[in-house]
Amino acid sequence: MVTTNDPNKYQSHKSRSHGNGGGHDHDHADAPVERIEHDLDYFQVRVLALAEILKEKGILTTDEMRRAVEDIYSKTPAIGSRVVARSWADPAFKERLLENAAAACDEMEINTSGINHLVALENTEEVHYMVVCTLCSCYPRPLLGQPPTWYKSFPYRSKAVADPRGALKDLGYEVPEDIELRVVDSTADCRYLILPRRPAGTEGWSEEKLTALVTRDSMIGVGNALTPAEFEAGSGALLG
Ligand code: FE
Repeated sequence: MVTTNDPNKYQSHKSRSHGNGGGHDHDHADAPVERIEHDLDYFQVRVLALAEILKEKGILTTDEMRRAVEDIYSKTPAIGSRVVARSWADPAFKERLLENAAAACDEMEINTSGINHLVALENTEEVHYMVVCTLCSCYPRPLLGQPPTWYKSFPYRSKAVADPRGALKDLGYEVPEDIELRVVDSTADCRYLILPRRPAGTEGWSEEKLTALVTRDSMIGVGNALTPAEFEAGSGALLG
C-alpha cells in the first residue's frame, strides 16, 4: 500500500499556503510550479496504488508494466521524421501515405496499430494544417512519442480553436495570411500526422539526410521543417 505521513500533503496548494486567512488570497509568483509539484505527487500516488492493485489481483506483473512503460518511452519523433522524409523523397510513397497512412507506415515496418484511424495531411503553399486535441491529449504516439506539455495545456487546446493564428504566435510561429489555416481535432479514434513542406535547397538530398530536417513541431503543424541553413546553425530546439 502507498501511504503518506503528511496528512496535509494532498490538500490544494491554496488551502495549504493561505489557510490562515488575513486577506491574503493572491497566488505567489511561484504558485504554478508548486501546483505542478503538488499534482505530480497526487498522481504518482494514484498510479502506484493502481499498480499495486493490478499486481495483487494478478492482472499484470511488474515486468509486464515495466515493458509497457519502456515501449511507450521508446517512441520518439524520429519515427515520424523517417515517414516524412520518405514522403519527400518518394512521391509514390507520399500518395500511398495520404491515401492510407497506416498501410504506408506498415511498409516501413512502423507499427501504428495502436491508432484506430491514422490520417496524414500535407501542408502546401495553399493550406496549412495544425493539430489539437480539444478534449485531452490525443496524439499519434507510435510516430511522435509523448506529446509536449503545451499540447496538453488548456490554453493551447482552447486557443487553437478560438484563435488558431494567435495560438501559433504564442508558440513563436506565424502562418502567412495568404495561406489557409485548417485546425484538425485529434480524437481517441482519429490521429493526424502532418507532412511539413519540403524545405527549399534540398534537391537531391538523400532520405536519411532529409530526416534531420523534420522537427516534432512541424509534424504537429506548429512549425516548419528546418531549412538547410537552420540545420547547419544547429536550430531545431523543441518547444517545451
Ligand atoms: Fe485526447
